[in-house]
Amino acid sequence: MLTPLPPRAEMIEAFLGRDTRYEGIFLTAVKTTGIFCRPSCSARKPKPENVEFFSSAKDALNHGYRPCKRCHPMQPLNESPDWLKPLMDALESDPLKRWKDGDIRSLGLEPERVRRWFKQHHGMTFHAYSRSRRLGGALGAMKKGESQTHAAFDHGFESLSGFRTAIERITGVPTGNAAEKGALYLHRITTPLGPMLAGATEAAVCLLEFIDRPMLPTQLKRIRDRIEESPIPGSNQIILQLEEELSAYFDGTLRAFNVPLDMRDTEFQEEVWKVLLEVTYGTTASYGDLSKAIGNPGAVRAVARANGDNRMAILIPCHRIIGSDGSLTGYGGGLHRKRFLLELEQGIRSPGLFD
Ligand SMILES: [Zn+2]
Repeated sequence: MLTPLPPRAEMIEAFLGRDTRYEGIFLTAVKTTGIFCRPSCSARKPKPENVEFFSSAKDALNHGYRPCKRCHPMQPLNESPDWLKPLMDALESDPLKRWKDGDIRSLGLEPERVRRWFKQHHGMTFHAYSRSRRLGGALGAMKKGESQTHAAFDHGFESLSGFRTAIERITGVPTGNAAEKGALYLHRITTPLGPMLAGATEAAVCLLEFIDRPMLPTQLKRIRDRIEESPIPGSNQIILQLEEELSAYFDGTLRAFNVPLDMRDTEFQEEVWKVLLEVTYGTTASYGDLSKAIGNPGAVRAVARANGDNRMAILIPCHRIIGSDGSLTGYGGGLHRKRFLLELEQGIRSPGLFD
């Protein structure tokens, strides 16, 4: 299937600026070196006249190009690399383990390399990452009524004071409050359009946003105000379900999400988001349509604002809202992402850049 590319001048600007919003939209191939890259590759940029663009890795390979060793354009951005897999598998099978450098070495990995990768991709060391996971498990247990002592020791903390310090450092709130609040897990999810940050309580998803969206810090603050649970890095069942559904969505096999959503916000925003959820896969609507649907045809501007404040991209399909003249209008994650999603849903884009 032929996948449309943005205009050449726009792609040149995006790749010169290492613009991650074009992740998944195009790949850059350099005629003089025979190598192809993702738009955000950190390697020195070639002269634009030596560059051509492709919409899929397969296309670039078919034209005789090799994938860049620095930006790994054959892998989704931010995905755990193959060399790290033994460690990630071990962490999945025993999430309560307290990791030492020796354990990492015994898996055939260099602790320093692991540390660098985690710092770069998760903003923390592997030890901090695995400790956060244990802490999240303990907070979940406390919310279900388990005592602080039991929760701490069941999740691999050796002392209560160490447990309390970890909670206060990671969540920024005193242990007692954290226990009442439960955990709000924050986890990076890899998608063909670049990494997204997902947030979920034990019950529902409350955040899904592209990492490079300038609005992300505001969104994080907003969910902290609305949801009142303690944000910690880590994953849970809800996020696992979200990951599976998102991956099926990008494969073109899932048309409606089943994962529960936590839309707690102002009454007006909730109302708009609920109406948005009724704009089904493969269709579009305008702000005018939405304002009529909430019984307030004059509220077009306020509806547009509530649409822009959506903190669960793709799940609450604000990308399906277009101008009444059919133009794409705006999109917080970048217009190319919007076009990608609409084309995917309308069946005019082959699913996946990596096929
Ligand atoms: Zn590269």
